[in-house]
Amino acid sequence: MVLIEAKLKSWGRAETVIKIIDQEMVKAEFEMCNLEDVIEAVRNCGDFRSSLVYLQQECQICFGFFPMNKITSLNICPCKICLYCMKQHFAICVNDRNVRKWTCPVCALPNMGDPDVAQEYLSFLKLLVSL
Ligand SMILES: [Zn+2]
Ligand SMILES: [Zn+2]
Repeated sequence: MVLIEAKLKSWGRAETVIKIIDQEMVKAEFEMCNLEDVIEAVRNCGDFRSSLVYLQQECQICFGFFPMNKITSLNICPCKICLYCMKQHFAICVNDRNVRKWTCPVCALPNMGDPDVAQEYLSFLKLLVSL
C-alpha cells in the first residue's frame, strides 16, 4: 500500500487502486490486468470509472479484455486489437510475402490497391514492427 502510494504520489489515487483490486480484479474481465496496469490506469485516468474503462478494452479479434497499454490499433482505422493478436497476425503476414494481405485483420483496411495509401501504410508498419 505504501509502495502504491509512493508511485501515485496521492493517497486518494492509491485508494482507487485498492478499490479496483478489491472489487474488480476478481472478475473475469480483468484477468489480463496486473497490479502495474491498475496503477498505470489510475495514474492516467484519475478516477475509478475512467480507470475501469482503461483496464477493459476489448480486442476485436479474440474478444478478450485488456488494459489499454496492451491494446493497439493500426492508425488507419479505429479497430482495437490486443498486442498478442497483432503479433500473431503480422507473424503470419511476414511469412506470407503478399504485402496486399498485410492489412488490418478486422476491417481489411487500408486499400492496398492504392499505391500512395499502401506506401504510407507500409512505412508506418515498419515503425510498428521495429518497436
Ligand atoms: Zn486479441
Ligand atoms: Zn481495422
